[in-house]
Amino acid sequence: MDITELTRKILDRRAKVGDPLRIVQAGHPALRRRAVRATDRLESGLLLELAEAMVVTMRAAPGVGLAAPQVGLPLSFYVVEDRFASEQGEDEDDDLLERRPLPLRALLDPVLEPLGSERVYAFEGCLSVDGWQSIVPRSRTVRLRATELLGDGSIQEIDEEHVGWTARILQHETDHLAGTLCHDVSVPRSFVDAGYMSHYADLGEAVRRLGLTGEITELAPGEVRIGG
Ligand code: ZN
Repeated sequence: MDITELTRKILDRRAKVGDPLRIVQAGHPALRRRAVRATDRLESGLLLELAEAMVVTMRAAPGVGLAAPQVGLPLSFYVVEDRFASEQGEDEDDDLLERRPLPLRALLDPVLEPLGSERVYAFEGCLSVDGWQSIVPRSRTVRLRATELLGDGSIQEIDEEHVGWTARILQHETDHLAGTLCHDVSVPRSFVDAGYMSHYADLGEAVRRLGLTGEITELAPGEVRIGG
């Protein structure tokens, strides 16, 4: 089935326009395929309809990003938005992870390049691996090149730098387009049921409880970042 037909089929599965799409779970083949190029692939009305449906789905989940493979469509496209982050300095944990509000973006064919050697460790979850978290090291700073879909259906080329939690969200979503889940690249044996997360707020404590080894053990209490 071609991408246009598959997009139409996925959108038409909703009982009504405005309903969220179904988020597929680990084991669904769309999550493991390399996504196909999205620029000029779909007619612009259909692409906008897909983007709107993915935004509804991301907000309903709720999540801070949703890639097309997560709704069963192997297309190099995702939406991101972080409305849960606090403004700078309001929350200690957010500050450590440099979590800042991220306005809604819809990106086609994103390419990420890590900048510098700093890595930040943090628990991460995925809407396609419901109920689980693991510790994922990510580059603190990335360069993002992509084609951005704007609300009026027009597109623009972007070339930007991002740091901290926003860089993490972009790395997580871009990985989806290569068929990679965050738990594939996490610290071995760091899997935790989401229900236990209150015991793992401090990474030093997590290292001890889970018996982790390697670079992560170099983090001092209250630290999340290595390298520089
Ligand atoms: Zn995910």
